[in-house]
Amino acid sequence: MNNKVYRVRDLDLSQPELLVSETLFHNANGYLGVRSCFEEGYAPGLNSIRGTYINGFYDIAPMKQAETLFGLVEDKEVMLNVADTQGVALKVCGEPFSMFQGEVLESERMLDMKAGVTTRRVVWRSPAGREIEVTVDRMASFIRKPLFLIDYHIKALNFTGTVELTSTHSAEVMNFADKCDPRLAQSAIRHLSVASCEVRGDESFIVSTTNQSGLSVCSGVKNVLSKPCRKETYREGSAAGCRMEADICAGETISLAKYTVLTDSRLFADCRAAALREMKRTGAVPPDELYGEQRAYLDAFWKNAVLEIDGDADLTCAVNYNLYQLLQSAGSDRYSGIASKGLSGEGYEGHYFWDTEMYILPFFTLTNPDIAKSLLSYRYATLGKAKENARRLGHKQGALFPWRTISGRECSGYFPAGTAQYHINGDIAYAAVSYWLATGDTAYLESEGLALIVETARLWMDLGCWYRGSFRLNDVTGPDEYTCMVDNNYYTNVCAQFNLRWAVKAVKLLQEAGLGDAAERLCVTDEELATFAEAAEGMYLPYDSESGIIPQDDSFLSKPVWDIEGTPREQFPLLLHYHPLHLYRYQVCKQADTILAFFMFGCERGREVAARSFDYYERITTHDSSLSMCVFSMVASMLKNREKAYAYFGNSAMLDLKNTYGNTKDGIHTANMGGLYMSIVHGFGGLRIREDGLHLAPAVPENWKGFRFSVTFHGSRILVEADKNGCGCTLAEGEGAILTLYGREYRLDRARPSCRAALRDSE
Ligand code: BGC
Repeated sequence: MNNKVYRVRDLDLSQPELLVSETLFHNANGYLGVRSCFEEGYAPGLNSIRGTYINGFYDIAPMKQAETLFGLVEDKEVMLNVADTQGVALKVCGEPFSMFQGEVLESERMLDMKAGVTTRRVVWRSPAGREIEVTVDRMASFIRKPLFLIDYHIKALNFTGTVELTSTHSAEVMNFADKCDPRLAQSAIRHLSVASCEVRGDESFIVSTTNQSGLSVCSGVKNVLSKPCRKETYREGSAAGCRMEADICAGETISLAKYTVLTDSRLFADCRAAALREMKRTGAVPPDELYGEQRAYLDAFWKNAVLEIDGDADLTCAVNYNLYQLLQSAGSDRYSGIASKGLSGEGYEGHYFWDTEMYILPFFTLTNPDIAKSLLSYRYATLGKAKENARRLGHKQGALFPWRTISGRECSGYFPAGTAQYHINGDIAYAAVSYWLATGDTAYLESEGLALIVETARLWMDLGCWYRGSFRLNDVTGPDEYTCMVDNNYYTNVCAQFNLRWAVKAVKLLQEAGLGDAAERLCVTDEELATFAEAAEGMYLPYDSESGIIPQDDSFLSKPVWDIEGTPREQFPLLLHYHPLHLYRYQVCKQADTILAFFMFGCERGREVAARSFDYYERITTHDSSLSMCVFSMVASMLKNREKAYAYFGNSAMLDLKNTYGNTKDGIHTANMGGLYMSIVHGFGGLRIREDGLHLAPAVPENWKGFRFSVTFHGSRILVEADKNGCGCTLAEGEGAILTLYGREYRLDRARPSCRAALRDSE
């Protein structure tokens, strides 16, 4: 069985399923994303979120604040739906093809993750009895980022006659809005104005400009039919189209290749000229050649990202589905990161959060480090704005990264659960350090990484204060958004401690490598480093000796415990049913907070305290956020509680495939997808990258026979294969590596490329 093909047969045409499928089968390549809507549309009365997005292409929308207090954010960036080039209407002998009329004899959809292509196949009988097979392949090219291809095939099964295809291109598009859901835009605003619409032979080009952000985008479309036809290209106001009519014989297949190119003014000074150029270059390449390129790209990707579960092909397929979505979502230029919904929908308005650094980067760092580096470079490119953000909030030094953003400015309106999440600084520094530890890419540390680590460290110095001999961070919000504006959130404090320590280490390390200029450029002095070290060592980390657990923050344990059991199922997620202030006054967590810190840094009070704390937080966490269960799973693995680790892992691979959070229509949950990878590789695989190198301690869950994955460490690719008795590691590429397996050190090199150790509990 091919575990890289996800297939659904006998399509469900109900409204909710159509919207979910638009997300699940979307095509994206990190630059552009197109939801998987039917080219011909749905039946009247059925809605579609017919979106095409460019990663990081945004306009500005007002964000009303009830009171105009100083420094509050009054507008936000929103990712735009830029054009609709999906339209292809088909008529056979005058009868319009629609899955909602006539009779659907067979139907299926699939995503082939090795080919990088989605397919919809329908065998249809028209009301007059004509039968056709329609097969639509779609691809967003990983090689040619501006390209989206629709390859539309019609086979006449039982008649000879005519087919008429009308291919449309429109820029009269709006974003989706839902005023009842705070996770979506509240009102629909027209953000784009069409500046020009032209038809040039077989091609059409539309340029639109954003109303506020000063950006422009060009969409170009070219239609190529596989046989000579009667053809008319037309323009109607600010939309364009092409009508093609051809004769078809029984048994014959006619194909339309519809090329779309998208270019925007952030990447190209003249986006229209760039689109014309791209179309000239790409529109002449036959689809098969484009598929070949795509396959070669994905061969390389999958070679680095092996992840298989022995004895569970369906789960392996679901896991691969999730990893593929991460690739589809990852920006690869300095203007874009990974939106929390990737490029699959408009949930959270295309914003980037800490999700990228804490949940998704680990996957790329260990499999395709160049992508990780590019994502970190996006943060570096916005460092200037992060400094401005810090000043807006009254900090005299350092940078504060925005909680949610596109181009680098703060876009969270409700600051207690947004801007106050200062831990984003620590998350970004942690990701930069993790990247360096995994790759040994000192050139990166020197050119960009150090600035991220030092400027974020500087912010902690400005935020914190000394009180009774310890360094404290007041009035911040940790990851758990049901507890806001607290003093000494444990997670934040340990992240800050790590950040400060690493600022000192990274400077020293570069100085020792003869790259001391990097610190000089940042005007780092020995005195400043001494203050960092002092604050790190003096960092206050809350501990409750009475209960023997780590409190989430200073006041957390003094609050009453929320009755989760007694809360009716339909009142979850709580955020949609309770006033935030109400939630803040209880011990109830939306997501892992202190527990996440244990995964990253262990627990300085030892395993017993970590285990007790785990049990405690388990009882008061609702997992209303999809970022939560995977962390509980990893920490359960760390605490050798294998049953719980597996229970939390549960069906997270199916979160979107089965729409378990009920909002997949608004887009995939990329953080969960990365967290799923982490639960397997870091959780069951026990993988950690520490200063002394790569550590592994795989333990196969009860229900699996074994699992295997590949990781790249310091340029060498290692295949890790775990079964019930132990684990083998093989050097698949590169010079070699030293690794610690179940606590014992092994050296892999060309002469001795593999090692094996029996399962053993190790720290
Ligand atoms: C979570 C945040 C997360 C955001 C975007 C929220 O529900 O609480 O931690 O960053 O979703 O995924």
